[in-house]
Amino acid sequence: MPAKVDSGTCTGCGACVDCCPSEAIEMQEDKAVIVADKCVDCGVCVDECPVEAISMEYRFSGAPSSRGLGHRVFNPATGVRVPLGLYV
Ligand code: SF4
Ligand code: SF4
Repeated sequence: MPAKVDSGTCTGCGACVDCCPSEAIEMQEDKAVIVADKCVDCGVCVDECPVEAISMEYRFSGAPSSRGLGHRVFNPATGVRVPLGLYV
């Protein structure tokens, strides 16, 4: 999920615009606005904002992690199920 600006807290200082590596923040009527399609979720702007007006929205799907049992693949050569990424 892209970064989100609390427009009520934003002072329009522009610091986040300058720090964003993907030019995903624009100023509109003296408030920062995230261009969601450009945001790569790096979180740099969250740390840069002096008034903590930016937050990241993380969505947890409940899906098993890549280390969990849900991401194993069957190797027909050995007949062994191995964690994804270890398939050789
Ligand atoms: S999270 Fe990163 S890419 Fe997204 S708006 Fe902030 S600095 Fe830019
Ligand atoms: S750094 Fe924070 S206060 Fe400054 S323009 Fe960006 S969101 Fe607004």
